[in-house]
Amino acid sequence: MADARERYDVAIIGSGISGSSLGAILARHGLRVVIFEAGVHPKFAVGESMILETSETMRAMAELFDVPELAFFSSKHYLAQIGASHGLKRHFSFLHHEEGRPQELRRSLQAVIPQSNYKLWSVYSILWLLGAYTEYVKLLSTRGRARSRAEYFAVVQTLRLVGGGFGEFKALADRIDAIIEAVDPCDEAAVERAVTEIRALYDATPWIPWAFRQLLAGRNHLPRNKLRLSLLRQSSAGFMGEGAFRRHFFGDATMAEVARFFASESVKYSASALTLRKRLGFRRRPTALNRVRVSRG
Ligand SMILES: Cc1cc2nc3c(=O)[nH]c(=O)nc-3n(C[C@H](O)[C@H](O)[C@H](O)COP(=O)(O)OP(=O)(O)OC[C@H]3O[C@@H](n4cnc5c(N)ncnc54)[C@H](O)[C@@H]3O)c2cc1C
Repeated sequence: MADARERYDVAIIGSGISGSSLGAILARHGLRVVIFEAGVHPKFAVGESMILETSETMRAMAELFDVPELAFFSSKHYLAQIGASHGLKRHFSFLHHEEGRPQELRRSLQAVIPQSNYKLWSVYSILWLLGAYTEYVKLLSTRGRARSRAEYFAVVQTLRLVGGGFGEFKALADRIDAIIEAVDPCDEAAVERAVTEIRALYDATPWIPWAFRQLLAGRNHLPRNKLRLSLLRQSSAGFMGEGAFRRHFFGDATMAEVARFFASESVKYSASALTLRKRLGFRRRPTALNRVRVSRG
């Protein structure tokens, strides 16, 4: 609670995720911060899921600005800490509801059921997942390789997120989008032709990782633990892949360097490590990446 007689360096209006994170970062670096909030916590918040990009961004903010508490929100482990009614996301669904009337299943929309034709969705969803995973890996590897905060932001500021800025992903996505947009979803023969054409494009794309090929072969889900790099393993070249793919996502890092980074990540963000750090009050561990100078100007 703010004290009217107290003087503050910064006032933030709104205590959503942006205001609260900014407040925590500034306070960590010695500024006196006051946050004004129109509502009362705990309060209803829109949204129901945390996407990979947000999860990784929370970790990056924790690392780059030396606020380890933020990393707590980067992992599924936090679910156990915030309430028994939360769980892992299985699918997206929306239900139109009118006050005073029973819900009607006809007015629901589930992301697993395509709006147009299931066969088109079955190949398009793979592109969608591939875009999200490559984006995640690019963000992760950028953080792993950055030697300074400026270097990290210089890369992510210009990054086209879906596909992690990988040119070959964009070229593939553009071709698949063009096919999907041109097909009449009610014309079954045209849909079959489009699906065959899209599958041929995937077959001709050597960098597509094994887990996504499994989906193309008929599996209906990715491996259970979705935050692991082995998802990106290419059948012949190991999890870092090769050629342009390897250069784009891992630069000149060696397999040993990347493996070390991911091993340290899985220890640092494991349920037990996070819980221990929480118990110890998230003590600061300044590194070259997160050293900040605060000017009171
Ligand atoms: C329908 C919907 C679904 C979404 N689903 C997801 C999802 O599944 N996953 C996801 O990651 N994101 C989702 N989002 C986006 C996510 O909700 C926002 O990106 C996020 O809440 C933005 O955080 P914020 O802190 O900027 O703003 P907010 O969360 O909106 O916080 C702003 C705060 O400022 C307060 N405030 C406003 N005006 C004043 C004032 N004058 N004085 C004092 N306080 C004030 C408000 O009470 C509020 O607490 C969804 C958004 C919508 C609209």
